[in-house]
Amino acid sequence: MYILQERIRQEGLILSDTVLKVDTFINHQVDTALVVAIGEQLADYFRQEQITKVITIEASGIQFAMATAIALQTPFIYAKKKKSIIQDETAYRAPVYSFTKQENYEVSISRNLLDATDRVLVVDDFLATGAALIGIVDIIAQSGAHLVGVGCAIEKSFQAGRQLLEEKGVRVHSLARIKQMSPGHIEFL
Ligand code: 5GP
Repeated sequence: MYILQERIRQEGLILSDTVLKVDTFINHQVDTALVVAIGEQLADYFRQEQITKVITIEASGIQFAMATAIALQTPFIYAKKKKSIIQDETAYRAPVYSFTKQENYEVSISRNLLDATDRVLVVDDFLATGAALIGIVDIIAQSGAHLVGVGCAIEKSFQAGRQLLEEKGVRVHSLARIKQMSPGHIEFL
């Protein structure tokens, strides 16, 4: 997606060979027109799949899941990361290790929101190590729902996420695929 790549080139801050900061248009301030365009592209790519729900993880995937779900005219679900006192104890759960935060956490989705009749598209801001999305794939498998694929705005293709998902038979589509980067330099696939 040309406009996303150009925006990353212009405003992305490459902090190291592995960390890209996009806080002026995606992760802190959000460019709503760009997010709507990303949602439409992801929806168009998977439109033939009769999707019933879009799933993401709080918090940074929410705007992309919402834009995609609006374009597909479906609801979206954001998996929760923290335990809440009002949470359903029977919820589907999966452990995740966050490489960016270097901590373990659990993702969960209430059991009543997902079942074997659902056809699900997973959407997120970044595909990096894939750890977070593999947690979601695990939850979808527990529910018996059919996973149609994973759509991401930005993929760091030099990290293992895509390969891990594809090894599980998951179809992956990302709109800006970074081949390699270092401070002051970025190359897209
Ligand atoms: P994972 O490593 O599990 O694929 O990435 C989990 C989450 O970490 C992503 O959804 C994203 O929110 C965040 N993340 C991973 N790599 C980066 C990065 O280079 N920049 C930013 N801003 N977030 C990242």
